[in-house]
Amino acid sequence: MKITHVDSFILQSSLTQPFAYSQGWVKGRSTVVVRIRTDDGLEGWGETFSVGLQPPHIGAAVIESALKPLLLGKDPRDTEVLWQEMYVRTRDYGRKGVVIGAISAVDIALWDICGKAAGLPVWKLLGGAFREQIQCYATGFFRPGGQGQAQEMAEEALRHREAGFSIMKVKLGFGLQDDIQVMNAVRGAVGRDTGLMVDVNHGYGANEAIRLGRALADMNPLWLEEPVVPEDLNGYRRVREALDIPIAGGEAEFTLYGFRDFINAQAIDIAQPDICLAGGFTALRHINVLAMAGGVQVNPHVWGTAIGQYASVCMVAATPLTNYALFAGQPLFEYDTSAHPFRTALVEEPLEHKKGWLSLPDKPGLGFAINQDFFRQHAQPWHH
Ligand code: CA
Repeated sequence: MKITHVDSFILQSSLTQPFAYSQGWVKGRSTVVVRIRTDDGLEGWGETFSVGLQPPHIGAAVIESALKPLLLGKDPRDTEVLWQEMYVRTRDYGRKGVVIGAISAVDIALWDICGKAAGLPVWKLLGGAFREQIQCYATGFFRPGGQGQAQEMAEEALRHREAGFSIMKVKLGFGLQDDIQVMNAVRGAVGRDTGLMVDVNHGYGANEAIRLGRALADMNPLWLEEPVVPEDLNGYRRVREALDIPIAGGEAEFTLYGFRDFINAQAIDIAQPDICLAGGFTALRHINVLAMAGGVQVNPHVWGTAIGQYASVCMVAATPLTNYALFAGQPLFEYDTSAHPFRTALVEEPLEHKKGWLSLPDKPGLGFAINQDFFRQHAQPWHH
């Protein structure tokens, strides 16, 4: 089997209601989708994660100009060989950022093809599912009005409860005083039996993050996510040593090398690689092994379109427990509840949680069919 086509597409839309997180105002959602075809007539799909503030075109340019020439004519089932080839050939200008995001998209598409060729879901090829029902937590609490929205956040928390979520993650990083008001309002609204994580999107320095963690300690957060910038591994370690709250991070980190540094620095309890950014299935398998040996639990980050969601649910199913116990908490699926036109419309059957839980897709490959009409209308093919 040989790769005959590697095509990149840009999906971009502006939001009617922009929203803030600690790093800026999100005014649109965008992504780069890659479609790989083979001489057997198989087709695989992948996505490179685009944060709200990132121009998608740079990812498409990397796929088109740097990766495609390495892939044409190769056997798409050679996932590890092709990952190494893409990494090695881009090493001197890649290693992190958009180049690895582009490799991620290609790798996801290759695994989709492998699954379709074998007639098996990707989670089966990854070694099988540790869990066939996956609990979701609601990600949301973005701020259409910026600061001073504690009441609205409490109302949002109640909506998530009503939708069936018993775990949710609150966006913080809007200033300590605002953060504490929000958390008091949210905890007051949902009571003690709802699990809450907090995420500051690296909006603080280590001292502020420690002060925040201490102020929230009696609210029992399940984790504190991205307390400081990803470059500040000493800051991460200081926060982790000062607090009893588990520290999570890694959505802005890449490949086994980036996670090796995080794990060796004793910076995190929970590693959060994004499959559409950190290097795809192949890289997340490397990271799983490192994390397990380093005493860190992996719980992937998810903020993509339907393609990223399907890929992530396969990966979460196949992620082992680092600290096994009969009644251990399992890796959770990050269920984005913010506005994203491509999260549902891009595929025929979007992933929909049922009372906060997802079932594993059982079709070959990633498990979805692209909504061809929607795709033709919205996807812009990328050319040089
Ligand atoms: Ca996050």
